[in-house]
Amino acid sequence: MPHYTPPMRDLQFVLHEVLDVVGELKACPAHAELDADTVNAVLEEGGKFAAEVAFPLNASGDAEGCTLDKSTHEVRAPKGFKEAYRAYVEGGWPALSCDPAYGGQGLPFVVNSAFYEMLNSANQAWTMYPGLSHGAYECLHAHGTEEQKRLYLPRLTSGEWTGTMCLTEPHCGTDLGLLRTKAEPQPDGTYKLTGQKIFISAGEHDLAANIVHLVLARLPDAPAGTKGISLFVVPKFKVNPDGSLGERNAIYCGGLEHKMGIHGNATCQMILDGAVGTLVGQPNKGLQAMFVMMNAARLGVGNQSVGLTEVAFQNALAYARERLQMRSLSGPKAKDKPADPIIVHPDVRRMLLTAKAYAEGGRALLSYCALLLDKELHHPDEQVRQDSAELLALLTPIAKAFLTDNGFIAVNECLQVFGGHGYIREWGMEQFVRDARINMIYEGTNTIQALDLLGRKVLANQGATLKKFGKLVQQLIEEEGVNERMSEFINPLAQLAEQMTKFTTEIGFKALQNPDEAGAAAVPYLRVAGHLVFGYFFARMAAEALKAIAAGSTDPFYRGKLQTARFYFARLFPETATLMRQARSGVAALLDTDEALGVDAR
Ligand SMILES: Cc1cc2nc3c(=O)[nH]c(=O)nc-3n(C[C@H](O)[C@H](O)[C@H](O)COP(=O)(O)OP(=O)(O)OC[C@H]3O[C@@H](n4cnc5c(N)ncnc54)[C@H](O)[C@@H]3O)c2cc1C
Repeated sequence: MPHYTPPMRDLQFVLHEVLDVVGELKACPAHAELDADTVNAVLEEGGKFAAEVAFPLNASGDAEGCTLDKSTHEVRAPKGFKEAYRAYVEGGWPALSCDPAYGGQGLPFVVNSAFYEMLNSANQAWTMYPGLSHGAYECLHAHGTEEQKRLYLPRLTSGEWTGTMCLTEPHCGTDLGLLRTKAEPQPDGTYKLTGQKIFISAGEHDLAANIVHLVLARLPDAPAGTKGISLFVVPKFKVNPDGSLGERNAIYCGGLEHKMGIHGNATCQMILDGAVGTLVGQPNKGLQAMFVMMNAARLGVGNQSVGLTEVAFQNALAYARERLQMRSLSGPKAKDKPADPIIVHPDVRRMLLTAKAYAEGGRALLSYCALLLDKELHHPDEQVRQDSAELLALLTPIAKAFLTDNGFIAVNECLQVFGGHGYIREWGMEQFVRDARINMIYEGTNTIQALDLLGRKVLANQGATLKKFGKLVQQLIEEEGVNERMSEFINPLAQLAEQMTKFTTEIGFKALQNPDEAGAAAVPYLRVAGHLVFGYFFARMAAEALKAIAAGSTDPFYRGKLQTARFYFARLFPETATLMRQARSGVAALLDTDEALGVDAR
């Protein structure tokens, strides 16, 4: 059976030593009183919850899955999920970073993000029930009417109710402009929604008293495409004006998907048969409102993969220390044993370090993104709020796609460390691989994230936001470039930073002449950008480790951090050269292929 220990030391390193979240948030009135001890105490307790309550249900939830009672349309989550959710609510965890005006504890998102990484390590399928609620909470908080906020936010904050996002329909996933669910206005100001949604995570379950669905649908006179989409809040049980539960609404689960992983999470086909809802935000502007939830969910999905990478790494490391096979090429290391532990073999270390580097780089990036969100929402300086929002918009597709691609690479490497035993269920590794695969698909596939990054976040503003990130990189290069011991980290970073401008301009120029060029370059482009971001954070982490060592620390943690950064720059970062060649190779090799594919695709 697998095991999991919350990575408290590394979380504290990232939050306090690298990012100085307490110092960074001092200027925000909402977080001025925050101190490191509080952050650490919350995360210690959160780690205990993840390891002791959520983790023991991971394998059993996977084996059992969810069950639908077709006569009542009720879904039962796996054994123990409901009790774990009750403990989560009783512990006050849903309220951690919610607004005190609605009963929240008002802690910054950066703390919640760290807590969620541990939950995702422990049990991704279970964590999706409360995780989606948080996105629904944020969307209603940003775009709901006062009445909607009054009715829904306190109960989403307490965890009494959970939330979902209902976008996908059988014929429309990526292209939401095709969606058909209808919303008919009623004389009382409500709407009746009719249609079918599929693949709705946590669409129906027995964990909470009510489920708050955020549903995209079309008004009768809506223009075609994405400009005609509106957002509605549709509760499973209607809500009376005093906030109590009313009668059952006409939205129900018509079937459960049988899927590759996250078996413990109910992926539901949802039928809306005249379900009553209220409009969120402006008519036909639903997609903009939903983006609050989608952006939160994109960071959340990146977080899922970092969580899985960490837990898979911990298990692979323990196995590699114990498993005896063959002798080291340079002579026996464990002479008293019949063979050496496989951790002596260079390639086993490569697999382990790949996972370690992807977990640690991802942790730094996600914490930074969450800190940007806190500043965007709470910083008193308008310019800081705007800069934070722009940087976060740039980094969100990277956090979603780069971290989930890395996550899948990493959990596969960790499975490989186990050899054939990794493929066998009892070690738990094959579940991590199955669970990690969905993260590259939902919340906008990774291809769509790449198109978003290159098209909307970079080229649409002539690389202005990318330059903002470039300035941070430049500042680090100037500060640390004088330190000889940093040169192994700073030099490759500086080289990529310099190449990035020309690379982006070149792709942008080609895309102007032929937009398909952007489609051909986007995926490798995002990976290059991901490495620029990881390179920046690994250099920052290495600088902190060197400072601690120079100040006399003998903590092996810092030497380990330097070794991980060294591995990252030596073995993972250099793929940027290949990726840039791929991105530059142009569209012809992809689209002039009708004969190769035997179709006339255009
Ligand atoms: C387990 C699970 C849980 C989910 N949870 C939810 C949920 O809670 N709520 C919800 O609304 N949805 C949910 N989804 C749906 C998910 O978000 C969609 O599956 C996803 O957005 C892709 O849509 P699709 O499956 O229709 O694929 P399609 O849109 O049909 O895409 C097929 C392929 O074409 C590619 N493609 C499409 N357009 C382009 C383009 N312009 N350029 C390049 N490539 C393109 C895609 O990248 C993909 O590889 C879930 C899905 C699963 C499997």
